[in-house]
Amino acid sequence: MCRLMQSVRLLDLIGMVEIVKNIEGIRSRLPMSVELVAVSKTHPVEYIVEAYSCGQRIFGENKVQEMDQKHEALKDSCPDIKWHLIGHLQTNKVKYITSYVDMIHSVDSLKLLLEIDKHAKKDGRVIKCLFEMHIASEETKFGLDRDELVQILESPEFKSLQNVKICGLMGMASNTDDTEKVRMEMRSLKETFDFVKKKYFAKDLDFREISMGMSSDWKIAIQEGSTMVRIGSTIFGKRIYAVNSK
Ligand SMILES: *Cc1c(COP(=O)(O)O)cnc(C)c1O
Repeated sequence: MCRLMQSVRLLDLIGMVEIVKNIEGIRSRLPMSVELVAVSKTHPVEYIVEAYSCGQRIFGENKVQEMDQKHEALKDSCPDIKWHLIGHLQTNKVKYITSYVDMIHSVDSLKLLLEIDKHAKKDGRVIKCLFEMHIASEETKFGLDRDELVQILESPEFKSLQNVKICGLMGMASNTDDTEKVRMEMRSLKETFDFVKKKYFAKDLDFREISMGMSSDWKIAIQEGSTMVRIGSTIFGKRIYAVNSK
């Protein structure tokens, strides 16, 4: 812990004092039934340790390599962290995370799901997965539409999966100040969830998560039925990206 701390700059220390305050502020406004995923992408492990110190256990990352490095750095000192992959996952990278990842929020194809199942089996694990749904009008966002999801759920391959546990749906609303638009997009995710739940998972207690809501829109997300909010900048501050990273 102390050696870790030496690499933190003074300015960062000031930021870290805020991390606990920020988490507690959010927690006090979250209903009991809503989980907080602390999105730590681009931030140093010291920030994660700080959040861990006030009881935060679920951390969201959007890149495999970065999550791997953080998992490696913290697996002894913070062994009960639950790592959630929230960003796009390429099939060729699945093998790096199946030994430890707790949940993958971004499943957007049957091919990817089959790959997760295959590697989870090798690692002797069952991995919780969410289907990422395309709810924003922006073209750039990943995700499935309802028909594509139904196609996956009705495919014979899907029915044979044993090492993935489908826990619900995830979505990202448009990045806009138009809160009514955001609300409508979130409502459409909830409707798709209800439809799929009723038709395919009515007796499955594990199918219960709606992962929606980020720093700018988590309060709306909760009103619209979110069960998991993924919050980064409100907890850890602004992200600073390296010049040549995506
Ligand atoms: C970065 C990210 C978040 C958190 O965004 P903030 O605006 O910093 O809260 C949530 N979900 C996904 C998928 C992300 O990539």
